[in-house]
Amino acid sequence: IFGTGRKNSQGVNLNIRSQYQPLMDQMAGFMDKRHDVKPLLAVEVADDPANTHAVYSPYDRRQTVGSVQWTSAEQARQAVDAAWAAFPRWDATPVAERAAIIRRLGDLMETHMAELMTLCSREGGKLLTDGVDEIKEAVDFCRYYAMRAEQLFAEPTALPGPTGESNHLQLGGKGVFAAISPWNFPVAIFCGQVVAAAVAGNTVLAKPAEQTSIVAHRVIELLHEAGMPRDVVQLLPGDGPTVGSVLSSDPRITGVVFTGGTDTAQIINRALAAREGAPLPTLIAETGGMNAMIVDSTALPEQVVADVIQSAFQSAGQRCSALRVLYLQDDVADRVLEILDGAMAELRVGDPRDLGTDVGPVIDEDARHGLNAHIERLKGEKRLLAETPLEPARTAEGTFVAPMAFQIDGIEALEREQFGPILHVVRYKASELDRVIASINGRGYGLTFGVHSRNESFANAIAEKIRVGNVYINRNIIGAVVGVQPFGGQGLSGTGPKAGGPNYLLRFATEKTVTVNT
Ligand code: NAP
Repeated sequence: IFGTGRKNSQGVNLNIRSQYQPLMDQMAGFMDKRHDVKPLLAVEVADDPANTHAVYSPYDRRQTVGSVQWTSAEQARQAVDAAWAAFPRWDATPVAERAAIIRRLGDLMETHMAELMTLCSREGGKLLTDGVDEIKEAVDFCRYYAMRAEQLFAEPTALPGPTGESNHLQLGGKGVFAAISPWNFPVAIFCGQVVAAAVAGNTVLAKPAEQTSIVAHRVIELLHEAGMPRDVVQLLPGDGPTVGSVLSSDPRITGVVFTGGTDTAQIINRALAAREGAPLPTLIAETGGMNAMIVDSTALPEQVVADVIQSAFQSAGQRCSALRVLYLQDDVADRVLEILDGAMAELRVGDPRDLGTDVGPVIDEDARHGLNAHIERLKGEKRLLAETPLEPARTAEGTFVAPMAFQIDGIEALEREQFGPILHVVRYKASELDRVIASINGRGYGLTFGVHSRNESFANAIAEKIRVGNVYINRNIIGAVVGVQPFGGQGLSGTGPKAGGPNYLLRFATEKTVTVNT
């Protein structure tokens, strides 16, 4: 269904089977392993059973992956002490050495791909195909940021000046960064934040999402194995408000790199701003989206549906870039909806470790509850256009939500981002296009956007008018590639700079101008 090939009579995708079997054989060795992890701080952490929390698999809540000991507020403060003390030493370390450690992490993650993918699946409910993309993206971040750091930080940039004067611009680290990440890309986003901050010369306190702390722990173990000093990058698993508030209220935190919900970014922003006497901080926030796609009457319905299915339902719709609102021009709407209905009936929801599965679980009971409440509201008021059946035998024990498509009147009808496999469809007339664009822009989010049209000038004109970070024409709107499609939004969707882009590291750096009277 997701463009990977033909299925056999048991619904197993044939291309995936031949491609992934060796990896699956390796993964089998990690499937039943129990993981009990603790914070990875500069100092050893004593066992604290009262502060230890079990982690369950979203596809089967009866299965325990292991447990995570959360970081106490006192330990978080001690971690800031160590990071603060380590900063001058790390910042003075030649960038080639810092980059070499980050490259070694990339190599180690490749070597441990099956183990990391198994954890992504058991903890985060990721499909095999999503897991491969996830680890490859994390490796790409390591190699790309290591390369950019060497280009930017190795030598000061000479600037023009009058005779008898030399001017240079020199980059360095800023200080201590808190890196706060979500569960939906538990390796790629987590790792991208940490390695960007560290390779630029900062010390890092990494706070992974509660749901995916075990795989984050394994990444930091590998980073330490790659040569990263334990006081330069520390792992602080735990409760967001507890650990987060210690970090965002400490005046020694120079910057926060955050990916998650827009509301959480606003809480962090307020806490940083309220610090008495602290230097003005850097906040890099990559947040939610309410991503739309406009389809005009010249678009190819079959291609539209293939791209909509991927954009809205891959990773169970739990991507910040996922399609939430599909605008269909009246002339093409019936045909697109007819094919969409057929395609959604073909999707299979279930265990992500099963090669026949297209859509895995949502992350936890809270997420399922929130999505089901949204579905109930829509069912009362709006027309259900298409739905994927949930098979009880495949979904009874996990937190699954059936992919659904509802017709709504416009993007204004959606109060907030719905982070799951729910697609909202709006029909529009050609004469209403300007109003459609104004309402998408007016909603205030600005992450991804798609347009499907065989009229090139129409597509380009819309791309020009829409205020988002990433525009995709005649394709799906997910899966940005590091170094190729720098990713990040504007407005309610984030502050920039774009992850995986050439300017990302600059926001983690101080700039010093040195003028010499020669
Ligand atoms: P979230 O609830 O905002 O959590 C993100 C992180 O913030 C977690 O580590 C969380 O810890 C922590 N946190 C919670 N409250 C905090 C506080 N008061 N202070 C400091 N940290 C706090 O988001 P999520 O549910 O994990 O992720 C889904 C969201 O991320 C969606 O909105 C999605 O669009 C967005 N996202 C955006 C991008 C992008 O590039 N723009 C990429 C991926 C995801 P706990 O786990 O302990 O709550």
